Amino acid sequence: MNCLEARKCMYDYLNRDLDERTLRDFLSHLEDCPECMEELKITHMVYTGVEKLENEDDDLNLDRAFRKSLEQSRFHLIRLSMLTTGRYAADTAVFWSLVLALLLLGRILLQKHGIELRYPVLSCLFFFV
Ligand SMILES: [Zn+2]
Repeated sequence: MNCLEARKCMYDYLNRDLDERTLRDFLSHLEDCPECMEELKITHMVYTGVEKLENEDDDLNLDRAFRKSLEQSRFHLIRLSMLTTGRYAADTAVFWSLVLALLLLGRILLQKHGIELRYPVLSCLFFFV
């Protein structure tokens, strides 16, 4: 992401409308680009400052609110990564459970009907289940 793209994302970022990939690219760009970080900080201060004034919020520490917003975005990305990893792990566990269940079912059916396999590879598979 370059500076122009980053600046186009700022309002979407403040409105939490960035998708995961764009948010990741945006935050990565901010870490390497102090100009965009400063631009976002100013935009965030204006944005949240007006909002806090309208809501008559007593806590007007806008710098802390900006840092908190960045931390929340990074935490959000970490949570999404963990969810994705968990989903892959669950899919893998389901896949191997189904394979194991099919092998067990095959072994049970073979034993029930007294069938012996002629192929040594298949015999080994059913033997170890
Ligand atoms: Zn930049």
